[in-house]
Amino acid sequence: MKTINDFNFENQKALIRVDFNVPLNDDFEVTDTTRIIAAKPTIIKVLEDGGSCILMSHLGRPKGRQDEFSLRHIVNKVEDVLGVEVKFVEDCVGPDAEAAARELKPGEILMLENLRFHDEEQKGDKVFAEALSKLGDIYVNDAFGTAHRAHASTTIVAEFFPERKCFGGLLAKEIESIKKVMETGEKPVLAVLGGAKVSSKITIIENILDKVDHLIIGGGMTFTFIKAKGGNIGDSICEDDKIDLALDILKQAEAKNVVVHLPVDVLAANAFSNTAETQVLDVDKIPDGWQGLDAGPKTIENFHSVVMECKTILWNGPLGVFEMENYSKGTIALGDAIAEATKNGAFSLVGGGDSVAAVKQFGFENKVSYVSTGGGAMLESLEGKTLPGIAAILD
Ligand code: AMP
Repeated sequence: MKTINDFNFENQKALIRVDFNVPLNDDFEVTDTTRIIAAKPTIIKVLEDGGSCILMSHLGRPKGRQDEFSLRHIVNKVEDVLGVEVKFVEDCVGPDAEAAARELKPGEILMLENLRFHDEEQKGDKVFAEALSKLGDIYVNDAFGTAHRAHASTTIVAEFFPERKCFGGLLAKEIESIKKVMETGEKPVLAVLGGAKVSSKITIIENILDKVDHLIIGGGMTFTFIKAKGGNIGDSICEDDKIDLALDILKQAEAKNVVVHLPVDVLAANAFSNTAETQVLDVDKIPDGWQGLDAGPKTIENFHSVVMECKTILWNGPLGVFEMENYSKGTIALGDAIAEATKNGAFSLVGGGDSVAAVKQFGFENKVSYVSTGGGAMLESLEGKTLPGIAAILD
């Protein structure tokens, strides 16, 4: 696996695919710089070697060339974060882009206009990828968030750099973290899967059963399993068409010696609202008119013990409706437990969708080993898929 550390970028132009798909407010100001900060080490390494950087990214979902999606809006913020001047060119291919790239000197940064102003980007068009490839000497992919897409800038362009392509620092870290959980993690290995639906996690569960010793199932997913086992779940969220699947998962887990931990009690509410009446109930004795919206106290205690036993921990999905304060305790307690285990030497990876939002919201970001930057890319990795953007560098 080649990374930026395998190259000396002196007098080289690094063509870097970054993920600067950042949120903007109505005044086109960047409201979250996480992704820019995440790409900084890669960019600085190239500059410190004596090279230059040509940054390419997409922003939003433009239909053709639409000014509101111009990457020009973020240039100042990128300069602030990097502490280096950033030049900008109003296209990502063609004569202007080529001239700007040609004139770039060591120590300088050029940002190209939004790749998705060209339809060819998402189509993975080879001619477009070749036009991009003309701009740089070494191709660096540092965009985990789009690594699951076979787009021109994330995958196809790599073909034009057979010997001169590598992972950026961020992408390398993502790959290593996933590997630590899925292949080389110290045992016992635990996966915590929460969130709303079994259907969106089923491929992950099936793939993960071969890798883990313990599986905690929490959140809304719980109730399909509890109903499958004959419990009463009242009005809790449930996918009736996944009940057989839930039973099958439990059987598969048993056959593979994976210990499954389900909630034993819940905080139930008489409406899906933060101001509803609540009570703690056994998870399998929820009367009609009530729905489980968070883990109960015994469950929180049980999950704490499991987490503390494990040396490698993957967390995907909240344990309750954490967006409402009254149902956030289970998710916060789990975050606390994982933070404690991490402090004691466990490796913890948080990835995919809402668990990342929860981790950030409750301040666990720096208390776990790694928080993934890619939602869909992370989920597909956990499903066991080889991401095209990663395969293209490994080829
Ligand atoms: P996911 O994107 O699949 O990880 O699902 C995250 C969503 O699951 C969050 O928006 C939570 O509010 C929701 N969720 C978690 N627990 C429950 C529950 N017991 N009932 C309904 N929704 C839940």
